Amino acid sequence: MAKKEQYDKSSRGESLCLVAKMLEKTGFTNELSQFSLTFIHMLKEELDLQEDFILFFKDSSQPCFQPYESSNINVLNSKDYEKVEESSILEVFTNEEMEIRPFLKKHEVTLKSQLFTNIQSDYVLFPLYANNEMLGFVMVLLLENDNFSTISVEAIADISELLAPWFNRLIDYKETMNEKIQKELLLKVNRKFYSSMDVNGILKEILHALSEAYPTFTIELLLSNDWKVSEYLSAQPLDINDGKENYAAEAYLTGNVLTMDLIEKKKTMLYIPLKGKQGVYGVFKMTATYSQIFKDQEIDFIQVLADTGGIAIENAELYQQSRKHIADLQLINQTSHELNGNLKLDEAIGILVEKMKKAFSADEVCFQMADRHLLNDHSENKLFSCEQVKVLSEQLLTQMEETQKEIFHSDFQKTTNEVVPYKSVIGVPMLHDNQILGAVLVFGKEEYAFSYDAFKLCQSLVHHSTLAFVNAMLHAEMKELIITDYLSKLYTREYMDEQVLGSMNADGFGSFVLLDIDNFKKVNDQYGHQSGDEVIIQVAKVIIENIKSGYDIPVRWGGEELAIYLPRTKIVDAKNVAERIRKKVEILTLPKVTVSCGVSYWSNTLGIPSATKLFNQADNAMYEAKNSGRNTVIVYQETD
Ligand code: GH3
Ligand code: MG
Ligand code: MG
Repeated sequence: MAKKEQYDKSSRGESLCLVAKMLEKTGFTNELSQFSLTFIHMLKEELDLQEDFILFFKDSSQPCFQPYESSNINVLNSKDYEKVEESSILEVFTNEEMEIRPFLKKHEVTLKSQLFTNIQSDYVLFPLYANNEMLGFVMVLLLENDNFSTISVEAIADISELLAPWFNRLIDYKETMNEKIQKELLLKVNRKFYSSMDVNGILKEILHALSEAYPTFTIELLLSNDWKVSEYLSAQPLDINDGKENYAAEAYLTGNVLTMDLIEKKKTMLYIPLKGKQGVYGVFKMTATYSQIFKDQEIDFIQVLADTGGIAIENAELYQQSRKHIADLQLINQTSHELNGNLKLDEAIGILVEKMKKAFSADEVCFQMADRHLLNDHSENKLFSCEQVKVLSEQLLTQMEETQKEIFHSDFQKTTNEVVPYKSVIGVPMLHDNQILGAVLVFGKEEYAFSYDAFKLCQSLVHHSTLAFVNAMLHAEMKELIITDYLSKLYTREYMDEQVLGSMNADGFGSFVLLDIDNFKKVNDQYGHQSGDEVIIQVAKVIIENIKSGYDIPVRWGGEELAIYLPRTKIVDAKNVAERIRKKVEILTLPKVTVSCGVSYWSNTLGIPSATKLFNQADNAMYEAKNSGRNTVIVYQETD
């Protein structure tokens, strides 16, 4: 640096003094920003200068110099003092012998290069040069007709030279500190990550870390619609179809960090995908109202932070899913188990209805069978007494029979003009041997009452339960077959015996009517056995229609003899029933037949009841009826 020798060295002592003062004033700070500000303002004050100063530093991530601090905030915010290429700066500061020159005036700069073309005023540049490298420079903006003294030039050049190593140290320190802070922040976020499954907490920690590392940036969280997080995170929806220049969408779709240094808009934007191992869940958007270039190491830091969030979302989701799957499997398993252990159809239905109502928070669950009867129409809330619902569930079943497919409506109202009582509907057909036995229908009053997962679970439940239902139904049918006489469809004698015994234990009294078709042999002889059978069926029908259904018990006693057991029925009432039947048989049979009836009665008041006695007495009375000319009703009377 030969040229420097030209300047008067007498002021070096003063410069040293000023440097010492600066260091002292800042308390030998390690903070680059604090020191830079003091440096500029003290230069102005101590040298009593009106001119504005700008301090440029080399950018650590790219080969250029950027304005860092200024005595005039407007200058710093102005577009005219943008970053400049490192090579251009080095070029203007280097003389023919490739030495760095101590300072340069505007005209010298413009002679060599096109730098700072927007700057109207004159200026002087002073290099900050340390360890054989230029780390920045000081720009002094001269005023109009400025006679910026040689003394000032000399002093600033001196001070710049003296302080360059100090600036160098502060820049190093700043970078080391940044790395340290970043590491600490990462550590904090990771600790949270490994100690909790709480996605909201982890995202909050990440947002906090980003704003600690980049306090001047506005940081937003944009989440794709599938992800719901706590309101305190103020997450915005991420719209990936929203027009052009949708950088957030680009970052989201590509999974890459997008940085934008919009110099003309004085804006820096950063889009960091919230990425897990299996997908991208959102984007962190960082904006600053000044231009800043991010180093690769910083981008890495931000990306690692964001990835932590992505993986946290994924883990939590997987955890939730596996818990849900386990719960679903448990429900299916438990339901199948209970159903298989319980062969009574109505109980099986009760079990499934309760499980489904609970699992889906459904308002109603029903079983619509292929023959269009509802298996559980004893519904508590009288659902199926509502004609509308009956019609609706029949329609839904018809639809399933045609398509062989499940039904899932979130807003059923939209599909019809009629007012429907339930807006959410799931319908799952019960298939067995490729035949639809019926369907399970799950109703919810509100729209979107059931999730897609609920629909899938309902499918599984029904599929796993259908076999148990088939078994229960077969069992019920078998039982019905055993106790039903194949010709008359009346109960069998065995069933009657069972019921009478039960009644004698529980009821206190009851009556028995024995009916015998008169001269039945003749019917067979005259019209054939087939017609004889028909007549038995006709008489059975008359009996069924003239007794209390579901209470009195009609049976085929044997051959052309039929009977009725009437629990808790007095003898007079039983006689009336017999009389009514006798009269109707005469009218309604073809070929016309008549019946003779014997009626008997038991009561706890008449001693220990006996079924044999009851039957014998009726038989005796019937015998009497035959003897007294047939087509009559005789009540058994004790002879003694
Ligand atoms: P009575 O008035 O004294 O009862 O005369 P009856 O002819 O009805 O009496 P009887 O007991 O002599 O004859 C009963 C006949 O009913 C004998 C049998 O062939 C016929 N019979 C019994 N069970 C059936 C049946 O299931 N179908 C048909 N077609 N005939 C039957
Ligand atoms: Mg007979
Ligand atoms: Mg007979």
